[in-house]
Amino acid sequence: MGNRKSKLKPEVLDKLKKETKFTESELQQWHKGFLHDCPTGKLTFDEFQGIYRQFFPQGNSANFAKFVFTTFDDNNDGTVEFEEFIMALSVTSRGTLDEKLNWAFQLYDLDNDGYITKAEMLNIVEAIFSMVGDAVNLPEEENTPQKRVEKIFQRMDKNHDGRLTREEFLIGAKSDPSIVQALSIYDGLV
Ligand code: CA
Ligand code: CA
Repeated sequence: MGNRKSKLKPEVLDKLKKETKFTESELQQWHKGFLHDCPTGKLTFDEFQGIYRQFFPQGNSANFAKFVFTTFDDNNDGTVEFEEFIMALSVTSRGTLDEKLNWAFQLYDLDNDGYITKAEMLNIVEAIFSMVGDAVNLPEEENTPQKRVEKIFQRMDKNHDGRLTREEFLIGAKSDPSIVQALSIYDGLV
């Protein structure tokens, strides 16, 4: 009982050694920790949300956690398995800047059509604002989600068509450290 999933299968381990930036012993370590916190081997949204609540006890992190959870849940089955968890963790904690930004692009592109619309970005930015609450220290001209999104689009939307391509997003984010900073939330997550 309970031990059924306690070992990483050799083929899974091999795959993760190739596809993540973790060593074999790190992978074993994370796997152990994952099963300790989540004995079923499948992280549910409620459990995931619980982690965010611990990190942002004063704000409302439910919406943001939902967006991140969806990005972690690569195969869209409603739970986050160890492989999905460790792949996302590898990118968000050890990825290159480009890898992190590509991951962020996926987070923002809610309908997965290859563009970030203003409405999509507003969803995420509103979720971040309600999560961090008073901790946001932004200049007056971008201290609401709407103003912030307008500002980001002014900087990033080079052809002014109201949506961002992956390329616009990558180039723009590199010149706006606050986008990358927002990513460091995930570093603190686990
Ligand atoms: Ca899944
Ligand atoms: Ca989209």
